[in-house]
Amino acid sequence: MALEIAVLASGSSGNAIYLNEGNITLLIDAGLSGKEIERRMKKIARNPADLDALLITHEHGDHIKGAGVLARRYNIPIYATEGTWKAAEKKLGKLKSRQKRLTKERWQLGGLTIESFPIPHDAAEPVGYTFSNEEIKVGLATDMGYITSEITEALQGLDCLLLEANHDLDLLREGSYPVRLKRRIRSEGGHLSNEETARWLPEILASSRSNYPVVFLSHLSAENNRPELAYLTVKNSLKEAGYNIGDDLILKCAPRREPGKLLVLDNLCQEGEKS
Ligand SMILES: [Zn+2]
Ligand SMILES: [Zn+2]
Repeated sequence: MALEIAVLASGSSGNAIYLNEGNITLLIDAGLSGKEIERRMKKIARNPADLDALLITHEHGDHIKGAGVLARRYNIPIYATEGTWKAAEKKLGKLKSRQKRLTKERWQLGGLTIESFPIPHDAAEPVGYTFSNEEIKVGLATDMGYITSEITEALQGLDCLLLEANHDLDLLREGSYPVRLKRRIRSEGGHLSNEETARWLPEILASSRSNYPVVFLSHLSAENNRPELAYLTVKNSLKEAGYNIGDDLILKCAPRREPGKLLVLDNLCQEGEKS
């Protein structure tokens, strides 16, 4: 069965991913206001009232801003790790149900298998996720201070990947952020640079089971990155590893201000929209 995915928002100003498989519809993170998420879902012709679950990666505001509001408004259960629940409690507000999951756990929602895996980040108990059915596997890994073998292993056999490319090292170094914040971004609890992602991606792609995988460079910093820079850095590294964009894979930068197009991934991975 096909899987539908759309990036509603990605970046330090807010993250939200829409995903559907059969009769299961999810949001992964809800880091914009409830109203803005409603607007963006409407733009891709999808209805927040149809959401079955809200999965949270970690408690930072750019991932949970609208989660409590949406959960109450549409009666949607939120899934998060124990540590994330504790850290996000105040920001999420009063909720009817709290679905707790482990940092490393596999569970089922309808025909969709969901797996969480730990990521190194300065949050209480942060995770990345993969989503799969018998035909398609999608992975989401952002907000990572560094790459672990556990993450690489979790991201094996993907058809579609949303991978962090947070900052360009030169832009960060020369930019206006205070030294303390620059250090935090580069720390083991911070974010991956374009360069780190570019070096790592060929290893992930080598295990892809799709002959035409889709990669979204995600969580780009507005201050310390440019989409064209992230794209070029990754493109060059892929080229060196023998991958040609367009022939061997689709590479995109995940959108920040407006939702991206709805992508339909099927077993041939001939997604609905090619550009
Ligand atoms: Zn974030
Ligand atoms: Zn974060």
